[in-house]
Amino acid sequence: MKINSNYDNLVPNYLFAEVAKRTNEYIKANPDKKVIRLGIGDVTLPLAPVVVEAMKQGADELGHKETFKGYPDYEGYEFLRQAISDYYKGFGVKVDAGEIFVSDGAKSDCGNIGDIFGEDNVVMVTDPVYPVYVDSNIMAGRKIVYADSTAENGFAAMPPKDVKADIIYLCSPNNPTGSAYTYDQLKEWVDYANANDAILLYDAAYEAFITDDAPRSIFAVEGARTCAIEFCSLSKTAGFTGTRCGYTVIPKELERDGHNIYKLWYRREATKFNGVSWPVQRGAAAVFSEEGQKQIKENIAYYQENARIISSAMDELGIYYTGGKNSPYIWLKCPNSMGSWEFFDYLLENANVVGTPGEGFGKNGAGYFRLTSFGDRENTIEAVNRIKKLLAK
Ligand code: PLP
Repeated sequence: MKINSNYDNLVPNYLFAEVAKRTNEYIKANPDKKVIRLGIGDVTLPLAPVVVEAMKQGADELGHKETFKGYPDYEGYEFLRQAISDYYKGFGVKVDAGEIFVSDGAKSDCGNIGDIFGEDNVVMVTDPVYPVYVDSNIMAGRKIVYADSTAENGFAAMPPKDVKADIIYLCSPNNPTGSAYTYDQLKEWVDYANANDAILLYDAAYEAFITDDAPRSIFAVEGARTCAIEFCSLSKTAGFTGTRCGYTVIPKELERDGHNIYKLWYRREATKFNGVSWPVQRGAAAVFSEEGQKQIKENIAYYQENARIISSAMDELGIYYTGGKNSPYIWLKCPNSMGSWEFFDYLLENANVVGTPGEGFGKNGAGYFRLTSFGDRENTIEAVNRIKKLLAK
């Protein structure tokens, strides 16, 4: 037997393991120090009460013969897809309930979508990048090309003039750089994808953090319906990182290589996925109710305020950064030309604050650092005060 030898081409992703190792070693050697983690990419606030109540009701329904549910529809229950469609309508984007697939999260769909595409497509990702896009395509043996996100373009890569690709991953607001594309920037990407007969895979996992008029969906952009697929998630929007629920939108008219993409993905899901559980879909629908939206917005506002606290410290210190405004991430240039890991150690040892070295997300991350706003308020304020004291010297 043979394994998939493409796995030999994966670069070991030691980023978070190395962060944990260095942090734990420091804590062991300095047990009296209070270390604060601003590297965390997971949420910390609990689920909204209205969501918990809906999940409890869902569990109760499973306990009675009259309301018991077995296998769900592959694409998700109609009531949830309709609620998602109405949510899009709320920010002026038309997505039909019949174009939505409910999933167990954006990571799975971003990784699995490659099942329906040929191996010899060229894949474009931005650098720095959410590693799932890269690794899942290395596993499939696809060639990967890069569009550079740098300080020159505000860490929001634009289509390279001389490079073509068949599949393009974009993430806005971006993890890790926090930048959010404007309408005009997205229009350039949409035009580029349509002109190259490419498919744009758009990850909108952080759309709920947008505070200005940046598009909340790729389908707000003219021309996207003939080139784009959108992934979204309730993880950061509503605290579903452990509960698991997301959705993928494929316009019915999206065609490539003589095939309808919606139908291909339906076939893939029907073969390999048996849907999201009833209590979770009940809870997810509650997220989109009026009360649900009110409650989740309170949590998002809490993280946004943390992001504001971190960003204003960077402003005070005169440190270049992106994100913070439309995103829970603050992507900053390491002071005094320090390298990412050098700054990691410096911050850990002198301020007892943990962040994430940018070079773990790609070569353009070298010399950059990611802080997140998912921690609690008190710790965020304390961490920021320590950073200010250290770097203002
Ligand atoms: N997409 C991006 C850009 C992310 O940063 C994350 C999580 O950190 C995900 C997707 C994962 O989403 P989910 O929890 O829905 O799988």
